[in-house]
Amino acid sequence: MASGPGVAATKKFALPENIPDPYKAKHHWIYVININNCIGCGNCVRACKRENSVPDTVFRTWVERYLLTNEGVYVESPKGALEGFEHYNEEIRKKAIRSFTVPKLCNHCHQPPCVQVCPVGATFKAPEGHVLVDWTHCIGCAYCVQACPYAVRFINPVEHKADKCSWCYHRTSKGMRPACVTVCPNKARLWGDMNDNEAEVTKIFNEGQWMVLKPQMHTDPSVFYVGLPKEVI
Ligand code: SF4
Ligand code: SF4
Repeated sequence: MASGPGVAATKKFALPENIPDPYKAKHHWIYVININNCIGCGNCVRACKRENSVPDTVFRTWVERYLLTNEGVYVESPKGALEGFEHYNEEIRKKAIRSFTVPKLCNHCHQPPCVQVCPVGATFKAPEGHVLVDWTHCIGCAYCVQACPYAVRFINPVEHKADKCSWCYHRTSKGMRPACVTVCPNKARLWGDMNDNEAEVTKIFNEGQWMVLKPQMHTDPSVFYVGLPKEVI
């Protein structure tokens, strides 16, 4: 077979030649998002699309814009913020109490329900923290899509396999940062190794001023939010 979903998938989610021993993992990767720094430019969404050849209608990462008013909370993410956000008109600006933008992606949970439900073991937790999908085994049943409490998974409309953020595994397994992190102009997205005491993410983690999404789900996420308002769902 010269081409086909299986071949393409192997390239995108290629596993390392020697998968590290889980008990000797060198790195403990985490991802930090500082809401106070996000300006909603959408650079990260565009970089992810380019880097991972993500089809037009789906997103591995996206940015939501929240608008708080006396009448309620409004959330929007036009095209995942691929083109950023338009300025609010005067009428909305008068009503606004606060507005902020929130990047979303797979939380690379330590207790991932998506892994538990996969009937063929195609989705798994790698030793250094990535939750990955091996497309050579994925049968596209979408059990994992339904199991994820964060709605970050989808069935790739071209490959017909489960898809999501891999923390740019093809980059990060070679010591590079995820594409979204490299293009953020305001350091809203950070990536680093908790085993490194000097890493910026380790210092932020140790300060303890972070939150995770939906802690009540007990998924133990590896994505930590700084400055996350309580209105975020
Ligand atoms: S955020 Fe969803 S897809 Fe990602 S590891 Fe957690 S349960 Fe799985
Ligand atoms: S690139 Fe950075 S500032 Fe721009 S939307 Fe993404 S996270 Fe926010």
